[in-house]
Amino acid sequence: MKQLDYNIHTHTFRCGHARGTDEEYVLAAIKNGFKVVGFSDHMMVKGRPQNGIRGDYSLIDNYISCINALKEKYKDQITILLGMECEYFPKMHDYYEFLLKEKGLDFLILGQHCYINSDDQYEWYFDNRDPYEAIDLYVEDMIKGMQLGLFSYVCHPDYFVRHLTAFDDKAVEITRRICEAAKKYDIPLEINLNGIRGWYLKYSGFHYPYPDFWGIVSEYGVKVTIGVDAHNPGDFDIADHEYAMELVNQYHLNLVTNYKDLLKK
Ligand SMILES: [Zn+2]
Ligand SMILES: [Zn+2]
Repeated sequence: MKQLDYNIHTHTFRCGHARGTDEEYVLAAIKNGFKVVGFSDHMMVKGRPQNGIRGDYSLIDNYISCINALKEKYKDQITILLGMECEYFPKMHDYYEFLLKEKGLDFLILGQHCYINSDDQYEWYFDNRDPYEAIDLYVEDMIKGMQLGLFSYVCHPDYFVRHLTAFDDKAVEITRRICEAAKKYDIPLEINLNGIRGWYLKYSGFHYPYPDFWGIVSEYGVKVTIGVDAHNPGDFDIADHEYAMELVNQYHLNLVTNYKDLLKK
């Protein structure tokens, strides 16, 4: 197999750091041989804007109606799914349910980037903090998110390697914690392609997907998927996908080949 026929990790311009129109992403997915494309823009949260990171809550209904219109328009060419990439935030369990049930989203994926601090503000795990302390916070929140059973998979679980200078004992310990939880809660881990794009490599020499991490994942037989994490229609370029497939083959990873096995409803 050269590539998966689905990708459910796609952003839109609404988050403030992605380019192109919704339709251009659909066309790029079709052109690159995908049979299923899922939109999963960064979670919009009522009363909690985060400029340049997530769309304002006022955009949520436009997001839903635009993607639903594309579902219908392209139904003979590609299956389109509507979702969101969500951080686990402790007080938002009801909100995830609301998105799935009331707003009719097809799926949610779990992507930890920041948390809500004691001043009730968004804060990045790795800002102004020792990376080893930050990693613990990051993984604890990720595991709490896994426990909810509402998320289709964990986005970029090896995101933390960006902040390290070696894949050391702590990295191994954290990787094992993530794998044990993924096994226990039966949730797939995503090989995320955002970490190998040119702009990203310039910004950070130590990138994800990190091979040593996936070598440990293979020991556990945890389910694995691949996410384009598109922020530009050009991100559907198949060369990146082939890199991920090499990792899958090299480590004999347990790849989820049917997108329906990811959906929770
Ligand atoms: Zn993003
Ligand atoms: Zn993303």
